[in-house]
Amino acid sequence: MSDRLAFARALYDAVPLYDPKRTPVDLDLTDNTNLWGLPPTAERTLREMAVAKVTRYPSLYAAELKEALAAFVGATADRLVTGCGSDDILDSAMRAFGEPGSVVAGSEPSFAMIPIFAQMNGLQYVGITERADHQPDLDALLAAKPRILYLCSPNNPTGALLTRETLERAVREAPGVVFVDEAYAEFSGVSAVDLAMRVDNLLVIRTMSKAFGLAGLRIGYGIGAPSLVRDVEKSRGPYKLSSVAEQMGLAALRHDMDWVHAHVALAVENRNRLAAALRTRGYTPLESHANYVCVPVANALEVGQALRARGVAARPFAALPHVGDTLRISVGPWEMVERFLEAFDAATMDVN
Ligand code: PMP
Repeated sequence: MSDRLAFARALYDAVPLYDPKRTPVDLDLTDNTNLWGLPPTAERTLREMAVAKVTRYPSLYAAELKEALAAFVGATADRLVTGCGSDDILDSAMRAFGEPGSVVAGSEPSFAMIPIFAQMNGLQYVGITERADHQPDLDALLAAKPRILYLCSPNNPTGALLTRETLERAVREAPGVVFVDEAYAEFSGVSAVDLAMRVDNLLVIRTMSKAFGLAGLRIGYGIGAPSLVRDVEKSRGPYKLSSVAEQMGLAALRHDMDWVHAHVALAVENRNRLAAALRTRGYTPLESHANYVCVPVANALEVGQALRARGVAARPFAALPHVGDTLRISVGPWEMVERFLEAFDAATMDVN
């Protein structure tokens, strides 16, 4: 085996199986999905779906869904690739653009799967701590000379939005491909898709898991130059979206957009109300552009455990740069937020 292949194999071998061993709770506010449930026409489509749709293979590359997604984001279908969740787009794209040992640089903190996808594909992950204003440290990221530069906007877990200036500089100066993960873009109303329509080194990654309430269907998509998305599609392979996912995704895009917009607006309203309620209690939540709130809380891991003991789960993070321990809370209907606040008050009393 060549040194490069042996190095890539060692990176792969070092990755543990991702299995956070979650125990069930009454109220799970850890995954930033749409907590209002399924869009109504998507749900009806599931109930009424012809059995014949399931006995045969789905379409190779979800051509119809691509058209509908492209219309939704203001792109064209030749610039769009679908995948089994945006996880699959990220993984396939790393395989498409990286070679054994090449560098994936990512701003930290961010989506926990990025180092894992990089290493599973034999790529070397370099994490660069973000600046105190929660913008990526672009100088340091570019200095790593990455084949793939990963940015997330709004960022998970901070909720910070990438500035347009930083985005444009990243695309101009990066030596390879720039990924902008927009899993939560619907909640911010801000997107890099317009730029992905004009340059040839930007892949924007989106999902129907969050705003659309379809996380269990696993529908993700990428938008970029036609040659870029064809490479991702080749690496992804055929039949990745089930026929159920394709039909329900189409139904939601064609008939449920009012529902989606209304629930995005509610999530934003309740996010702001939750942040205000936390401020009243003396906390300083980070400014969020997504459907969750990230709030510095002393001993967050213990508070997370105490919350779980009370039947509520929020995601704790230990020692995030610049802000310390935090809790990330997904926002849903106000009754859920109230239930969280009640458990949070008790849990912080238990711990601190
Ligand atoms: N990117 C980010 C930033 C995320 O938070 C998530 C889900 N937690 C994903 C991608 C993956 O989402 P999915 O595979 O469901 O599309």
